[in-house]
Amino acid sequence: MSKKVYIQIYGCQMSERDGASFRAMAENCGYTETGARDEADLVIVTTCCVRESAENRILGNIGHLNRWKKEKPGRLLAVTGCLVQQTGALERLRRRAPHVDIWIGAFEQERFADLLREGKPGAVVAAAPPPGPPLETAPLAERGKISANVNIIYGCDNHCAYCVVPATRGPERSRPPAAVLDEVRRLAESGVREVVLLGQNVNSYGRAENWREDFAWLLREVARTPGLWRVRFTTSHPKDLTDALIETAAAEPAVCPHFHLPLQAGSDRVLRAMNRGYTAAYYLERVRAIRRALPEARISTDLIVGFPGETEEDFGETLRLTREVRFSQAFTFMYSRRSGTAAAALPGQTPLETRRERLRRLMALQAEMSLSWRQALVGTTQEVLTTGPSKHNPALLNGQTAGREITVFPGAPEDVGLLTPVLITKVNSWTMFGEINRK
Ligand code: SAH
Ligand code: SF4
Repeated sequence: MSKKVYIQIYGCQMSERDGASFRAMAENCGYTETGARDEADLVIVTTCCVRESAENRILGNIGHLNRWKKEKPGRLLAVTGCLVQQTGALERLRRRAPHVDIWIGAFEQERFADLLREGKPGAVVAAAPPPGPPLETAPLAERGKISANVNIIYGCDNHCAYCVVPATRGPERSRPPAAVLDEVRRLAESGVREVVLLGQNVNSYGRAENWREDFAWLLREVARTPGLWRVRFTTSHPKDLTDALIETAAAEPAVCPHFHLPLQAGSDRVLRAMNRGYTAAYYLERVRAIRRALPEARISTDLIVGFPGETEEDFGETLRLTREVRFSQAFTFMYSRRSGTAAAALPGQTPLETRRERLRRLMALQAEMSLSWRQALVGTTQEVLTTGPSKHNPALLNGQTAGREITVFPGAPEDVGLLTPVLITKVNSWTMFGEINRK
């Protein structure tokens, strides 16, 4: 019987994609995937260290895996991703979790396969991302998957004052257009209907390489892949959002009318201190440009409260912009001080209670905004890409509209993987409910 691998993912879609690549590597080495950790001989954990809370939670869970290891001799535990790639973190991590067999950088997938074949636990692999062009990952066989993540650019050349990502993922490196298009074509041939193009800032695709092919070009080519119905992309840095990209999104039917455009803060003073490279007015102008070209476009965002020195008045600007833009969705975070970042050394760190209280107010406002978007869709019929049964109730199906609203409705297993017209009957801030409407 073949050995089994269980993948535990923490963090963003890039971490999810790392998990898929490591899974493919383990499969090349004779493992088969299991959804039950207790059956597994190998657990691979992909990690995140963007905020301290995430880091602590993941370290706690890695700690618990010590029990899992002891239950059966020969079990292997491998940890990869941002947490491992932080400068100087490895020694600290090894002391804290000595039961981990393999610490490995997300870019070291070939090396990981070698370790599995050699069956050599106890290995620690240098984790810094390579400076050269990105390694091509193992081809992904996305069995039965309807939506798949595709990396187009690794790393980040921005220096947002709060952020550890440039330190864990290295400088920007784009995947050659042919590699991206080839992967997308293979995915579509294997039945994938939606791809999500991933990068810390997809808008700077090809910039470090000085390629003629920019992101707007790539998006158009991907959108024209036969068999592919939907294309999404994330993340778009507002300072680099070009008119050409907006035009492509408006012109290509397969490109979903959705922009994830992290604002982070509404006050110009805070935006400057964050080193974001735009003002609130510039951001609003970009939003207007999107809505002129695509009136139905949803704009979602990331927001941070309590950046060092943020006053009540500054925070008021974040509330004001949240209301003015009317985001369809927002990921809201309390500022987390990360060592090695520029903001960690700033005076005026905001007390935890103030950050908590601002987060509560911001979340309440965003819940109103999210609800108002969804309420406007009640009574309309939306095309939903149906991805599978609902997690909470297997009698219901689950999918997403082009605008990325999660939608739940009664349906048959044959509807999975299809674009289903759904009449929206009821909504809350997070989910829409409806019924199939094939008229
Ligand atoms: N590259 C993407 C996002 C990367 S991290 C971008 O530029 O938007 C995802 C989100 O985590 C960020 O958008 C930011 O809102 C949040 N984040 C990053 N570092 C943080 C920190 N130190 N404290 C709180 N939130 C943080
Ligand atoms: Fe971090 Fe800014 Fe780069 Fe996003 S753009 S990964 S927030 S440094």
